[in-house]
Amino acid sequence: MESAEKKVMNRRTFIKAGMVGTATALIAPPVLANTLQQMAASEPSPFPKPVYRILGRTGLKITVVSFGAMLTPEPEVIRVAIEHGVNYIDTARKYMGGKNEEIVGKGVKGMREKLFIATKTLPESKTKAEIIRDVETSLKTLGTDHIDVIQLHNLTGKERIFNAETREAFVQLKKQGKVRFCGVTTHKNEVEVLNALVDDPDRFFDTCLVKYNFKSGKEVSSAIDRAASAGIGIIAMKAMVGGYDTSGLGNITPYQAALKWVLQNPSVTASIPGMKDFSQLREDIAVMGMPFTYADLRRLDRYAEAIAPFYCSFCGSCEAGCLRGVEISTVNRALMYAEGGYRDITLARATYTELPQQATAAACVDCEVCVARCVNGLDIAAKMDRARTGLA
Ligand code: SF4
Ligand code: SF4
Repeated sequence: MESAEKKVMNRRTFIKAGMVGTATALIAPPVLANTLQQMAASEPSPFPKPVYRILGRTGLKITVVSFGAMLTPEPEVIRVAIEHGVNYIDTARKYMGGKNEEIVGKGVKGMREKLFIATKTLPESKTKAEIIRDVETSLKTLGTDHIDVIQLHNLTGKERIFNAETREAFVQLKKQGKVRFCGVTTHKNEVEVLNALVDDPDRFFDTCLVKYNFKSGKEVSSAIDRAASAGIGIIAMKAMVGGYDTSGLGNITPYQAALKWVLQNPSVTASIPGMKDFSQLREDIAVMGMPFTYADLRRLDRYAEAIAPFYCSFCGSCEAGCLRGVEISTVNRALMYAEGGYRDITLARATYTELPQQATAAACVDCEVCVARCVNGLDIAAKMDRARTGLA
């Protein structure tokens, strides 16, 4: 029987935006050039005037819709975004096994002074030497002499915020002019991470890239407000709640509405939706300057209803129930990279295999009954089953 999740299609596959096809990665350079020419000749500019906000105490003035590069296979998409005013590009050492920084490097070539680059050290890099090594590699791969915002990748608690070696590494890199500002990223225990940034007596970190969307709870919004008031620059990720789509929504895109929902919060400086191709670029940056409306609210209601059977918020509440210690939230995040709008099996597998073996769904193999309970009623056993067979 076809499951509800099987019906889920890629984010925006139904959007026939007409500007450029969606499979940009497959477009050979001459075809791409022709497509861009046609785009310029036949359409009025689909790009709005950029809207900027200040990224907390860094003072960086960045576009409210900035560029999440994690899924972008084609440097030309990044180039076009920059040419139309987008000025903050977020990548990571980890994405595409290091290839993503290479793509960003090509995309920003010759335009470095027009923009800010944010990247992330590898999640597993903990020592001073490892952090410095990651940054040196990023500088080389990106083809730049400095990184504007260096981020600790994927914090799930406050410990690393206070780690002395991490701070020593960043202080040294700052002194050398190799990095300008330091931040963290978080998808889980966001409230603890945000509060730790504020409660840190040294206020060492300047920014937080945080999972934040219309499904986030009030506690997350309050922690974001508190951090923003303390001068921490807030950038929202996962604004589109996984980028899932369902045929049941007809020709209505919930993604612009989801982005607008996030940006209506003045504590959020920007969001960095992943943009794979020109179609997604146009759809996302068109949001700049658009108000959030009642119709958007209705769209989000319908979207929430459609994704309810499979959307995991990574809250981790179920994990105490699993006596084998499976990190269900991270397994589900990996699964989302494979089954949601990302459709990125490499990222899904990389995220899954980062977990210690005993915390993966391998532990479920001879577990007779799943006793972990989801606060949102998800079928955890079925998800673990799919992760084990598809991602190991
Ligand atoms: S099936 Fe459920 S309870 Fe059993 S190991 Fe897996 S997550 Fe834990
Ligand atoms: S499966 Fe449910 S309880 Fe577990 S992390 Fe996801 S949303 Fe939270």
